[in-house]
Amino acid sequence: MSQSPHPITPLSQAEPNNATAGAGRFAPSPSGDLHLGNLRTALLAWLFARSTGRRFLMRVEDLDRVRPGAREQQLADLRELGLDWDEDLMVQSDRLEHYRDAVTRLESAGLTYECFCTRREILKAPSAPHAPHGAYPGICRNLTPEERDARRAGGRPPALRLRAEVGSFTIDDLLHGSYSGMVDDLVLRRGDGTPAYNLAVVVDDAAQGVDQVVRGDDLLSSAPRQAYLAGLLGLTAPQYAHVPLALDQEGRRLAKRAGAVTLGDQKALGRTPRQVLAMLATSLRLTAPDEEVDLAGLLDRFEPARLPREPWVITLPTTPPQSP
Ligand code: GLU
Repeated sequence: MSQSPHPITPLSQAEPNNATAGAGRFAPSPSGDLHLGNLRTALLAWLFARSTGRRFLMRVEDLDRVRPGAREQQLADLRELGLDWDEDLMVQSDRLEHYRDAVTRLESAGLTYECFCTRREILKAPSAPHAPHGAYPGICRNLTPEERDARRAGGRPPALRLRAEVGSFTIDDLLHGSYSGMVDDLVLRRGDGTPAYNLAVVVDDAAQGVDQVVRGDDLLSSAPRQAYLAGLLGLTAPQYAHVPLALDQEGRRLAKRAGAVTLGDQKALGRTPRQVLAMLATSLRLTAPDEEVDLAGLLDRFEPARLPREPWVITLPTTPPQSP
């Protein structure tokens, strides 16, 4: 990791000290309503953070896929379940200069290159020898200056990729143990100028002093590249806990088609937020079915080692309640 052509100036990181404990966080994308699986992940992130004396922070990941009103609804739903968070919201669209700064550091260290590929070109390209499936095949990695000028003249604004010096990286996960996953020449900035999720998440976790990342295990495979990128930026990677997702009866990721998936849907069926919290807690084996719970009680009982390791399969009523 220290083999970069030029040393990189470390990005500043909010370190825990006596005044500020470390922090956990929840970082929803405001693209729609949170479903029960998302709410369960938020509850877990809150429990992991609060049970370890950490602050709990909220971040709005609105660099793409924004639906008007979704952010307000998401935060209202989390509050209705009783979740609270410290400090002001962090909003990614307010932080573009910080992503630019991180990219500039990587650029000055010779760790980036412009990529002109379309999605189609990437799919059609033969994968590089020994490269893991799905890795960017390196088409633009070693363009000559002339080739690059020719591609630039095509007028398509390039994406900026990381010139990764490793093919995989190992992280430690509280639920998955030691986990090695692919690191490829990931996109840092898209052709339209938008910072990529993998960059933003690393910059923001560090800026917020987040040292514990609890999120759905669909993101487990992204953790090695994020931890690697953190290292390049002189940052300490957080502790990870990737938690099982919620699935519908057909084994598909939870979505609207599964029925009453949101807190609002559940309330329309006559359930109180407290009952929804109890449903989530039961799915986490923290309470018996129909037991009354509150967050303080859940915190007392929370034991990460006892969490289910398999997905939560839920059956939901699909029809709206009949009016009496
Ligand atoms: N914004 C991402 C999502 O809603 C989560 C990213 C993360 O937790 O690192 O899926």
